[in-house]
Amino acid sequence: MESSSNLLERKKSVSDLSAEVEETSTATTGLDSSGHSSAGAGTTATTTATQHGSDETEEDIFEQVQMILRKRRGWGPDDSLSNDLHLLEYDDELGEEDDAGCPLPSTPEDTQLIEAEVWEASWKVCHYKNLPKWLQDNDFLHRGHRPPLPSFRACFKSIFRIHTETGNIWTHLLGFIAFLGVAVYFITRPSVEIQTQEKIVFGAFFIGAIVCLGFSFTFHTLSCHSVEMGRLFSKLDYCGIALLIMGSFVPWLYYGFYCHYQPKVIYLSVVCVLGVLSIIVSLWDKFSEPALRPLRAGVFMSFGLSGVIPAIHYSIMEGWFSQMSRASLGWLILMGLLYIIGALLYALRVPERWFPGKFDIWGQSHQIFHILVIAAAFVHYHGISEMAMYRVMYSECTVPIEPITF
Ligand SMILES: [Zn+2]
Repeated sequence: MESSSNLLERKKSVSDLSAEVEETSTATTGLDSSGHSSAGAGTTATTTATQHGSDETEEDIFEQVQMILRKRRGWGPDDSLSNDLHLLEYDDELGEEDDAGCPLPSTPEDTQLIEAEVWEASWKVCHYKNLPKWLQDNDFLHRGHRPPLPSFRACFKSIFRIHTETGNIWTHLLGFIAFLGVAVYFITRPSVEIQTQEKIVFGAFFIGAIVCLGFSFTFHTLSCHSVEMGRLFSKLDYCGIALLIMGSFVPWLYYGFYCHYQPKVIYLSVVCVLGVLSIIVSLWDKFSEPALRPLRAGVFMSFGLSGVIPAIHYSIMEGWFSQMSRASLGWLILMGLLYIIGALLYALRVPERWFPGKFDIWGQSHQIFHILVIAAAFVHYHGISEMAMYRVMYSECTVPIEPITF
């Protein structure tokens, strides 16, 4: 049992310490009390703790300091001061600027004290090691990460700042706008030019592409908002990929098996089942974990590559070197290659794996993957347009429409 004088002394030490931590954080920011460095506050806390009394008291004070610092943080449940203290030991080629320049998010009290706009503009990019655990995704990207920005406005404003996600956001934002434009142009053509049936079939592909690119752009913008938002939008991002693959199959199977109703319906049903299964897997909480990156690439690659079966069926049916086969299969193979290269770069994290810290802002694997996804989607659009044109021009089916028989 502790005596009351000991307790009083301890209380006083802790309140002194609390004041010091507050003072240090205010002094470090210069702008507002939210922008202090975790390293700065942690150092003061550790130094001060060693200045007080016996070992037992030090431990107690240390615990109190942990509580004070935890109170100041708005981060997720996985964070702990031990992470921060670990950062103090971190020693690499980093400039001091990077360590000092990672502001902690404001606590609710802090945000009330300052203007929201000032706070939104005040954050600085930080080093991977200074990120909370839930934002640590790719350790080959060293600098230039956004800190947690628990405000939608701040996240959307960050689109116009330079950081590790800028390239990812813009590649799919521009792709989203481009596909939206093409879709609107296609759908609004007069029906003498493009028939309603064609519009519906192409519409499935457009919806897949637009939803995929839209969710992807939104995920990369909001991933640093909070644990919950990051998790929600990463799930939507993966669902978008599944929808793009499903949407890509629809026109290909429709025009590929134009006169063969039974295989068309069977393949489309299989694609729907595989798509729904991919969406179910995407909704699994652990699916977005960094360690499962190869599994994610594997799931979507297998789904896409399942198209090899109808493609072989189709080639045997149409003849490998018929005009129609050449028109459709060439583009299909090119699309497949672009997706496979993209998925491999994504899973292996090349080139940043080979040159860690050299592709932090531009040229990282995820950006290349994004560009390849857009290129593959446009190649597919071109391929299915050629197939559709061929079918519309030579549309008379020589084989009568088969009823489904089992
Ligand atoms: Zn992405």
